[in-house]
Amino acid sequence: MAEKLHAIIAGAGIGGLTAAIALARAGLRVTLLERARTIQETGAGLQLAPNATGVLGELGLIDYVMQAALTPEHLRIRRASDGVELSSFPLGVIAEARWGAPSAVIHRADLQKTLLERCAINPDIAIETGATVTGFAETATGVEVAIKQEGEARSISADLLIGADGLRSPIRAKLGLGPADQPIWSGRTAWRALVPASEAPKSALKLETSLWLGPKAHLVHYPLRHGALINIVAITEDGWRGEEAADLWAISGKPSDVSPRFSRWHRDARMLVAAAKEWKRWPLFDREPTSRWTLERVALLGDAAHPMLPFFAQGAAQAIEDAGALGRAFLRVHDVKTALADYESARKKRAADVVIASRRQGAIYHMRGPLAFARDLTMRSLSPHLMMSRLDWLYDYRKRD
Ligand SMILES: Cc1cc2nc3c(=O)[nH]c(=O)nc-3n(C[C@H](O)[C@H](O)[C@H](O)COP(=O)(O)OP(=O)(O)OC[C@H]3O[C@@H](n4cnc5c(N)ncnc54)[C@H](O)[C@@H]3O)c2cc1C
Repeated sequence: MAEKLHAIIAGAGIGGLTAAIALARAGLRVTLLERARTIQETGAGLQLAPNATGVLGELGLIDYVMQAALTPEHLRIRRASDGVELSSFPLGVIAEARWGAPSAVIHRADLQKTLLERCAINPDIAIETGATVTGFAETATGVEVAIKQEGEARSISADLLIGADGLRSPIRAKLGLGPADQPIWSGRTAWRALVPASEAPKSALKLETSLWLGPKAHLVHYPLRHGALINIVAITEDGWRGEEAADLWAISGKPSDVSPRFSRWHRDARMLVAAAKEWKRWPLFDREPTSRWTLERVALLGDAAHPMLPFFAQGAAQAIEDAGALGRAFLRVHDVKTALADYESARKKRAADVVIASRRQGAIYHMRGPLAFARDLTMRSLSPHLMMSRLDWLYDYRKRD
């Protein structure tokens, strides 16, 4: 029997872990290298849209993921100043029938733990932590990947390298995309908090995803862990770029940094924001879609390939779509160069469309004055069916390569 192709994946975030499972399923042997000593997500929630859960289903992961997830009954959009409902549409069975897969919300740590467990029991996946990829060189027959681990430098040979190493991807920096290829700061900060349900106002306990639109800011909240926690994400315009932070997920914010920004919002939103005792803050960046994601034996995946603003809550979903497409490419053809080229062509336009649409959605969410008035009128005039049809291009799991 021919020896299995060997893939190295740099980065064990949601993208890298899902890609490891997809490649192993396609018959490859995978070494997953993560620079952190332990693989763990900081606490926060994640919306998993049907375009992501559909792929998780294809990879045999959805039943494990759904054990830790919830499906909100609907998405409700409200106006910040007075709480008036602007729109609402279902996310349960009607949405699942429309988009071909369930909508879910999950604690990031639960998703990561589930993926890590599935990797750990797979004999074709080896995971090394505290292992930083420092460089690579393509050779005639493969790729040499340089790593630093426990202060020691060494290299590993493989047939291909996947850079799933996040927004500031060191592998992307070596792809020759030029000095202009840098993260673009959006001028916005995401504030994230988890509030125990016992401390949250009653209005926030419904099994729904709530989206509040205010001038130059918006707020999203939904329950997690069987309703024991309420996840809050508040996005505001802000001058902070987070340059000082080595680990962007770990920066704390104080309630007094956040609450005043919502002092003119409806009582339900104000009370929920006030219930959060501890916030994490995250400066928001994306990048211009790039002309190239791959070399002959190296490819980018997830935020490394297409970091995006979170206005459609699609960054992890797109990383999961990447992983699914990468696995499918190797199921179709076992030649590295052809498979990576197929992967790039299946994914590049789709991901670029989502990056651009996410920027546009941010401008719509944060409108103020007459523009916000017009937006609200339009939203109120659209039926739930029409609101959903505007998302078909993004959420319909069956509309892909
Ligand atoms: C406020 C906010 C809310 C969001 N909400 C949602 C949502 O609801 N739904 C959704 O789908 N997406 C959401 N996203 C986006 C989502 O969080 C990201 O797109 C997703 O986590 C990216 O996963 P990744 O695996 O590509 O990258 P990362 O999670 O960044 O993982 C990269 C990994 O690579 C490792 N690494 C880096 N360099 C090296 C190296 N040299 N060698 C080895 N390892 C390395 C890092 O330690 C890290 O573990 C949100 C983002 C933000 C900021």
